[in-house]
Amino acid sequence: MNIRTAFDGGCMQPCDIEGNLIRFDFTGPRKVGEGHVFFFEVETEHPALRVRLRLDRKGARHLSAQGVVAGRDFGAYSTYPLEPSGAEFEYEAVIPVSGGVVRVANRYPYGRDALDALLCETSACPHGRWRQVRRDGRAFPMFELGDPDSPLIHYFVAGEDAWETSSIWTADAMIRALHADAALREKVLCKGCCRLVPLLSPYSATRESHSYITPQNEHLYLGAAWGDAKRPPELAAMSEMIESSIRERRLGLVFPLHAYEAAKPYSELEAIETSGARRLSPERKAWAWRVLETLAAEVPNSKAVLPEKVWYPGNARHYLLDRFNALTFRIEVTTAGVGFDYFRACGRGLLSGFAQLEDWSQVLPLDGPAS
Ligand SMILES: [Zn+2]
Repeated sequence: MNIRTAFDGGCMQPCDIEGNLIRFDFTGPRKVGEGHVFFFEVETEHPALRVRLRLDRKGARHLSAQGVVAGRDFGAYSTYPLEPSGAEFEYEAVIPVSGGVVRVANRYPYGRDALDALLCETSACPHGRWRQVRRDGRAFPMFELGDPDSPLIHYFVAGEDAWETSSIWTADAMIRALHADAALREKVLCKGCCRLVPLLSPYSATRESHSYITPQNEHLYLGAAWGDAKRPPELAAMSEMIESSIRERRLGLVFPLHAYEAAKPYSELEAIETSGARRLSPERKAWAWRVLETLAAEVPNSKAVLPEKVWYPGNARHYLLDRFNALTFRIEVTTAGVGFDYFRACGRGLLSGFAQLEDWSQVLPLDGPAS
């Protein structure tokens, strides 16, 4: 059996190999719940590959309801269930390989290869265009659909946390759906200009990482850095675009896509009610519920929540409400008990829910400037 980490910046951990069994121990410093832990290729003569994982409690929560991901190419992955081996927090997946090469991962790999494929395969869209957003030596691609001079601009941003790949595949599916489905595209085009970012931090994708890697090669929780005094380049560029839509009073939906992976058995849609001294008025709160419920009705296996406080300060919802009194949303896309097709259904569902929304007057406060 020959193991390679050659695909798309893949990563690998120390392991024991015995016949067709690969054994990992993730009870030490390498936590399987928080990053890209293994993305590797195997070439084997065996008809099946066995992957056995020793996990801690958190790793088990992220993986046991999802399974191990494997496939021969990006965009063609399946999940193989992890069965308890008998020992505590130890699981094993059996992957049929029937000889040849197979890619194995702890989450659906999304890196530069998949991003390039998306750009190449959707570049000939007559109503949309790819723009490269550049800032301080970093860049990311953004798909813009509709007229940028529209009265409203909507933002769908995935990949603040590059290892939350199920949400990145969901954003990828949204762009492909807008490219391929004329009926859906027409409905979305009526809503204004949509800016979709599939992978905000491509430099951190598929690296063995628990976080975003700054240009200085430091690790940072990008999803919670919106309010930082010195924001990393990608986040500064993204946030300033949204802030300029706020100043022009053209902001529609702001919708970051994240993923708890399999830690919750459903995808969770959320807005927050308070941020610092700010509190949504009853009208704005009722509107937020309507948005959440409209979107959730179209997203399979999802649930809407509207907690009083943000779960982690400094994320987009918290920052935009605190600083600009702007009401924004997010989703955490689950991987529990679902396969790759779920991300397509989730992306289409988000777009068809979005296409039903009419009223954007509650995003910013009605009285006076948003400051
Ligand atoms: Zn996240």
